[in-house]
Amino acid sequence: MKPAPFEYYAPRTLEEALDLLAAREDAKPLAGGQSLIPALNFRLARPAALVDLGNIAELRYVRRDNGTLLLGAMTRHVTLEHDESVAAAAPLVREAMPHVAHPQIRNRGTLGGSLAHADPAAELPAVMVTLGAAFVVRSRSGERTVQAAEFFTGLFATALAPGELLVEVRVPVLSPRTGWAFDEVARRHGDFALAGVAAAVTSSEGGVCTSARITLLSVGDGPMRASGAEQALIGRAADAKAIADAAEEAIRELEPPSDIHASGGYRKSLVRVLVKRVVERAVKRAAGGGRSG
Ligand code: FAD
Repeated sequence: MKPAPFEYYAPRTLEEALDLLAAREDAKPLAGGQSLIPALNFRLARPAALVDLGNIAELRYVRRDNGTLLLGAMTRHVTLEHDESVAAAAPLVREAMPHVAHPQIRNRGTLGGSLAHADPAAELPAVMVTLGAAFVVRSRSGERTVQAAEFFTGLFATALAPGELLVEVRVPVLSPRTGWAFDEVARRHGDFALAGVAAAVTSSEGGVCTSARITLLSVGDGPMRASGAEQALIGRAADAKAIADAAEEAIRELEPPSDIHASGGYRKSLVRVLVKRVVERAVKRAAGGGRSG
């Protein structure tokens, strides 16, 4: 199918884009187009106008500001995958990126597009919740910051209001002795995950877990913190027993959906296996000193 007719705007500055979005409530921003264009073609979305963010250079950057990694919303997936400063400050992002779709899609898809799209099976929302990232949102009437955990409000739903653009993602650099890991199971590499887990675990010199953040993807309406699993680790030596307990806690009250790709029960058993695998890897990295830069 072909999309319904729409007007097309290609602003060169953020200010111009915000003006266009403020003037036209029926307009939608276009980033990499990897989700929006298929939705237009299937007529699942019928915006009267598209505001293409592709020419706005000021939205595409990777910077470091002391303890924070700053990522422009139009930073492409391929950059997140290969940029050395991303790998040093937020190695969890680097580890998750090869799971996001295929290289062709990563060449076009953007950080902001992925987060604003809020697909419950997407990797980046879960990674950003795990890292405690903050999202900077701008509109004609001003700027606000939304914590990642509050940004994702439901199935393909976010805290973005009409006329608002996600402009920057602020990722706190991992603290020392923090290990990280990401893993997922998909039917074929590059497909959306049947289930996935992101984790960041901090341990003391004595090997006691002092902080744990574990987030599940593709088992609910959006990224889900596994707080029972986190509590099973914090304050304990992160040994095999504690990790096995965390894996059990992760599925205790979990009720993942069933669909044509997998049953809820299968997804649940994947979560148990993945939490164990991911936390083991994160703990090992924490013991080795954690992040590299
Ligand atoms: P677009 O498609 O341009 O936009 C997506 C939505 O976000 C639109 O509603 C748009 O209006 C809005 N938007 C975009 N930018 C902003 C902004 N700055 N502020 C506010 N709203 C904005 N993704 C995964 O995470 N994991 C996968 O495994 C995966 N597999 C895929 C497989 C295929 C075959 C395809 C086609 C896509 C797949 N994707 C996957 C999606 C891909 O990662 C997309 O790139 C991503 O979801 C959307 O990013 P985009 O830049 O293309 O956004």
